[in-house]
Amino acid sequence: MPELPEVETIRRQLEPDLVGRRFESVEVLDPYFSQPSTAVLFERAAEGSEVVDVGRRGKYLVFEFDDGNSMVIHLRMTGSLTLVEPDGSLNPGDPRIEPPATGAGNGAGPAPGDRHLRARFMLDDGGRLLFSDPRRFGRGFIAGPEALDDYFDSRLGVEPLSPEFTVEAMAAMTEGRTGPLKSFLLDQKGVAGVGNIYADEALFRARLHPLSPGESMKAEHHRALRDGVVESLERGLDLGGASIDDYRDARGDAGKMQHEFLVHRREGEACPGCGEPIVRIVVGGRSTYFCPACQKRLRRRPRRRAGRPLRKRAR
Ligand SMILES: [Zn+2]
Repeated sequence: MPELPEVETIRRQLEPDLVGRRFESVEVLDPYFSQPSTAVLFERAAEGSEVVDVGRRGKYLVFEFDDGNSMVIHLRMTGSLTLVEPDGSLNPGDPRIEPPATGAGNGAGPAPGDRHLRARFMLDDGGRLLFSDPRRFGRGFIAGPEALDDYFDSRLGVEPLSPEFTVEAMAAMTEGRTGPLKSFLLDQKGVAGVGNIYADEALFRARLHPLSPGESMKAEHHRALRDGVVESLERGLDLGGASIDDYRDARGDAGKMQHEFLVHRREGEACPGCGEPIVRIVVGGRSTYFCPACQKRLRRRPRRRAGRPLRKRAR
């Protein structure tokens, strides 16, 4: 599933080419894409709109229109957005020709005639934006500014690459959380945009065991985890994201982060810190990779019971 670095890579590629462009026509080819809205309502709301900004919130792409509404696209498991230039190439200056219309075949990302094509946006300069999604979990919707704020406020927490993601914010978010740190990082209401890959990488960088309870962290751990999240996301961004299964960027290219994973998907391989084998466990139904030697398992802090002084530990 594309996480923050993958979605942000796409956003950065689309922004210069889409801002100032108008959607001349919009076709929703799969009614699942626009659910719960109908395909016709979605098409009517998007057609004729000029894109004035391409933003991102968590793992959502936000295309702001000149009428104040925004089109939001969530790629979910296997969704991809490809921008095809007016001349049929996927990227200005890229010598590749548009793939044949009979399926994705040549490894250059979703082809326009791809059977997984779910929505097509024709631009006023002759280019087109294609949304392709083999597993059909990806969704798009259009909302006004207030509805959009409500939508994100109820689902998403702090943006980890924003100035608001401070050590103090990390301390406040994890206070009283008894669940594992891995689960905390995957909860979009805490840190928005982190998924399975970058959660493992961040915990390794922070030298924290994925099963440690959030509330067991001390000040140094809050700082280490905050820094681990930021560094792992920035590394992913530098490498154009990670392509494990289907992820391709807006030009049809794979990312390179999967070659640089420190622990994720490296079960049995040597830890880059100490050389011990990396272990895989399942936390909250998700495969989780870590080094048992480098990543410290913190204990739950004893709770002070109401009305009773905290008992001193015998020495
Ligand atoms: Zn290690």
